[in-house]
Amino acid sequence: MTPSDKALVPFVSVDHMMQLIHHVGLDDMLRGLADYIADDFSRWELFDKTPRVAAHSPEGVIELMPTSDGISYGFKYVNGHPKNTVDGLQTVTAFGLLADVDTGYPVLLTEMTMLTALRTAATSALVARALAPKEATTMAMIGNGAQSEFQSRAMQAIAGITHVRLYDIDPAATAKCAANLSQSGLNVTACASAEDAMVGAQIITTCTADKAHATILTDNMVGAGVHINAIGGDCPGKTEIAPAILERGDIFVEYPPQTRIEGDIQQLAADHPVTEIWEVLAGHKPGRTSDKQITIFDSVGFAIEDFSALRFVRDRINGTPFFHPLDLLADPDDPRDLYGMLNRAKA
Ligand code: NAD
Repeated sequence: MTPSDKALVPFVSVDHMMQLIHHVGLDDMLRGLADYIADDFSRWELFDKTPRVAAHSPEGVIELMPTSDGISYGFKYVNGHPKNTVDGLQTVTAFGLLADVDTGYPVLLTEMTMLTALRTAATSALVARALAPKEATTMAMIGNGAQSEFQSRAMQAIAGITHVRLYDIDPAATAKCAANLSQSGLNVTACASAEDAMVGAQIITTCTADKAHATILTDNMVGAGVHINAIGGDCPGKTEIAPAILERGDIFVEYPPQTRIEGDIQQLAADHPVTEIWEVLAGHKPGRTSDKQITIFDSVGFAIEDFSALRFVRDRINGTPFFHPLDLLADPDDPRDLYGMLNRAKA
């Protein structure tokens, strides 16, 4: 694309996204995304922030996630439909757009199903690096669906995890995850129960999908000193962690106005104390303060992480063949002659 093609918008398809990931390398892409997210979290206060706009239905939710740093504007469209996998569809799919604030012109349109899995995993690992016990080597991975391998690989690449212990209510999901991770360098163990998966784990990731107040972790399962990376409780009425664990631990969140609606803390009082994770990453607030402390990252996914991922992709596709120039914006020679352009198209 050249400057005269400025009305053509780079579009990254799923196929191109997969090629980009292999071109960059999965580990480097996860680390790169974590760096971009850390960079944007360090600028947290200058972003426009709002809880995402959610349209709920009996089987799922469709959400829009906008934000801007005053220079660029981004949004993601994402769904969450736990029953989709029964029909051969993904639980979570997404696409997103980045635009130039000065002109309002889009500068990138991209698939974000793959990208969401990577950015969620990069965020989890960035947070675990700050909150998990320093000597953490083992993660329990509960829920072995679409996100699980990405979560495991990011914890390996960014947080020093060498062992993952897998559990899912569906043994086929665990077998799939174990097979996919077999060449990763991780030491992988398939477990028969969530309790078994947690044996010797310093990090516990819950990444299940159920449109219900599920209790994946009960109070008696969680001992002192662990870090819980709670991914799957991300919607009103959809939680994973027993309230008693939340009461015992210290809770870290992305954006409290959104997490209080969507996260596991929807089960707690509206004024229950939480720490915003950007403040820990920026060095303003302490993270883990003792060996006995239970730290809980009540992750729901926030728009700034998607904005970081969009920035990363925009920067990395430059000079590559991993996008299509998309004829998305009308571009009449005379900007006020849109009608004339339509007339000429008829001829
Ligand atoms: P998925 O449907 O592919 O996988 C979910 C897995 O959880 C399935 O294999 C299912 O069998 C398993 N499961 C369900 N109930 C369980 C239980 N009680 N114990 C153990 N396993 C159980 O979904 P996915 O794409 O991997 O997403 C997982 C969850 O993460 C979803 O709830 C999704 O909304 C959420 N998510 C959160 C973020 C975030 O930023 N926090 C981002 C993406 C996805």
